Amino acid sequence: MNQKKTQQSTRKNKSDNQQNQEQKRREFVQPSEPVLRFLPTAWAKLLYFRDRGQTEIGGFGITKTDDLLYVEDFVTVKQAATGASISFDDEAVADLFDSQVDAGRKPEQFARIWLHSHPGNSPQPSSIDEETFRRVFGNCQWAVMFVLALGGKSYARLRFNVGPGGPLIVPVVVDYTQSFGPSDYEAWEAEYQANIKHTSWSKTFGSQIEPGFEENVSNYSVPDDWLEELEAMEPSERQCILDELADRPDLWSESEVICEY
Ligand SMILES: [Zn+2]
Repeated sequence: MNQKKTQQSTRKNKSDNQQNQEQKRREFVQPSEPVLRFLPTAWAKLLYFRDRGQTEIGGFGITKTDDLLYVEDFVTVKQAATGASISFDDEAVADLFDSQVDAGRKPEQFARIWLHSHPGNSPQPSSIDEETFRRVFGNCQWAVMFVLALGGKSYARLRFNVGPGGPLIVPVVVDYTQSFGPSDYEAWEAEYQANIKHTSWSKTFGSQIEPGFEENVSNYSVPDDWLEELEAMEPSERQCILDELADRPDLWSESEVICEY
C-alpha cells in the first residue's frame, strides 16, 4: 500500500517535472529579443570545419522558413583559405544560391547570414570584415555577421538596412530543445576537401588577392597568429610583408585586437 503510494507520488513528481521542463522550453524558444540560434547538428558541422585546418573557413547559414535567425545548416562554397583570409569563389556562390532556390528556399533563408571562423581566440570582426559586410550585405534589408573563434567565443551582429537601420549585437544559442540529426563526418570531410583550398597567406596578402568573389563576399584580415607566421618566413618574404603592411595602415587596426591576448 505504502509502496503503491510512493510510486504514485513519484509518478506525480515526474509529471510535474515534465510540465516544468516544457514550460521552460517554451520560455526558452520564444525570446523577446532576437537570438541567433543553431541546430546542434549545424553547430557541430561548423566546429568540424573550424577545427579541421588552421585557416579561416566561411560559409552561409541556412535557416528555417518561419525563423530566419534559426540556422539549420551551415554550408560552405569553394574558397581560398588562409590563416588570414577567405576568398569565396564567385561561381560557387552563384551555384549554391541557385540550388537553394531550386530546393524551394527564399534568399532570406540562405543569403543573409554570413558565418566565418577565426583561427585565433578573438571573434571580433576585423576592419576588413566590417568593410566586407557593408559592401556585400549593405543592400540587403537585413543581414547577420557571425564569427566563431578557435577558443569558442563568438560574435553575432544583426544589421538592419531598412527603417531606422542600425546594428544589434545578438546572443548566440545552440538550441538543444529541438530534435536534431547525427553527425556526418564522411560528408563533412568530403565537403571540406572539395571546398577549402589552403593557400599561403603571404600569397594572398596585399594586392595579390584572388579575383572573383573577393569583389562580392569575402573576408580578409590579419591572422591572429600572424607573428608566428611572420617569424617562420624567409627574411626576404618577411620584409615584403612588412613593406606591404607599412603601405596599408588600415590593416593595423587589427593589431589592437591582437594585443588583447
Ligand atoms: Zn574575420
